[in-house]
Amino acid sequence: MNIDIDKIRSDFPILNEEVYGKPLVYFDNAATTHKPQVVIDAISEVYKKYNSNIHRGVHYLSNVCTHAHEDARKKVQEFINAAHSHEIIFTRGTTESINLLSTSFADTFLKEGDEVLISQMEHHSNIVPWQLLEKRKGIVLKYIPINKTGELEMDKLDSLINDKTKLVAITHISNALGTINRIKTIIDKAHAEDIPVMIDGAQAVQHVKIDVQELDCDFYVFSGHKLYGPTGIGVLYGKEKWLDKMQPYHGGGEMIKTVSFEGTTFNELPFKFEAGTPDFSGSVGLGAAIDYVKSIGIEVIDQYEKKLLEHANKGLSSIPNIRFFGTAKEKASVISFLIGDIHPFDIGTMLDKMGIAIRTGHHCAQPLMQYFNIPGTLRASFAIYNTKEEIDKLVESTQRVAQLFG
Ligand code: PLP
Repeated sequence: MNIDIDKIRSDFPILNEEVYGKPLVYFDNAATTHKPQVVIDAISEVYKKYNSNIHRGVHYLSNVCTHAHEDARKKVQEFINAAHSHEIIFTRGTTESINLLSTSFADTFLKEGDEVLISQMEHHSNIVPWQLLEKRKGIVLKYIPINKTGELEMDKLDSLINDKTKLVAITHISNALGTINRIKTIIDKAHAEDIPVMIDGAQAVQHVKIDVQELDCDFYVFSGHKLYGPTGIGVLYGKEKWLDKMQPYHGGGEMIKTVSFEGTTFNELPFKFEAGTPDFSGSVGLGAAIDYVKSIGIEVIDQYEKKLLEHANKGLSSIPNIRFFGTAKEKASVISFLIGDIHPFDIGTMLDKMGIAIRTGHHCAQPLMQYFNIPGTLRASFAIYNTKEEIDKLVESTQRVAQLFG
């Protein structure tokens, strides 16, 4: 594996920042990643050189901007190997993509008593929209339980899927545990019963190669900001056969073909689902982020981060009374832990003063915390710009803090 970590670090200007006079060690990458200069430049170029509203303009700038936005769509298509670029719907992020689905898919295909199957390790954004739908439409939400290692209890799948199940919606990788779920098995089992599957890829696209055609998932959703891209832009990939039939989500400009007071006809895909002025600086930024990731290679990123995870596991294991949450065989570079009875917030706050940013709390996965019977964890999550030296600092500092708390 060939990786020039100094060069990669120099691509991210924020890594030169100090916090409390100390060099920044950033291990909150599952929450959001930092942006390389090429992404910052791409966004700023939009506003400096060709800012203009897209699709409808006849003038030069509008054409340039439209091309940049549609090029970004093609980059996403290629990145996840979708069959068509019109299967890529730009949204504000994973959360909006799931809300779109829980509205548009549900309006078209679900009725009272139908079941949606999720899992016990979902992020709130793949729980609450379905609970709202339970209230709105009387659907029934079920979940695949997990075991103590933080893996899905796959043997429960057969008994959970029945003729009322109309959608399976599962996270690819758990944000709180790092577990990589066996989504291909889930997709195949669901498809055997003609049930479509949505995969929440918010924690996956930045770590592993995604091929939606090979996976054969019906929907795949993710956020730009966790993939070294900007905030406010995300993706809903959907197979044409579903998107074509689904009701629009938001009404407004762009998503229509004709409007009169007698009625409205809707635009073709993907525009049917993109009402209003799209976030074209966001899409261009996301396109630049994808180019950046490809310039390193997602497989290289995956291998490097696995090494970081191994190093962190080894280092942190030496701390007395440490308890890990999420010890699945297949894991991404996310590590969740507690030390004795010390509240995670106390450790997190002290680490922050030492310049180390980690996450503390329930990580928007309260049902998961309820399963483990804990208020939350400390979570360190690694990205391509992190180093073993930074991890050593985390281990050493955590040890010192733990000693202080006795
Ligand atoms: N799903 C998972 C697994 C996540 O980790 C997150 C964010 O942490 C989300 C969904 C929501 O993403 P966003 O806040 O970008 O919409």
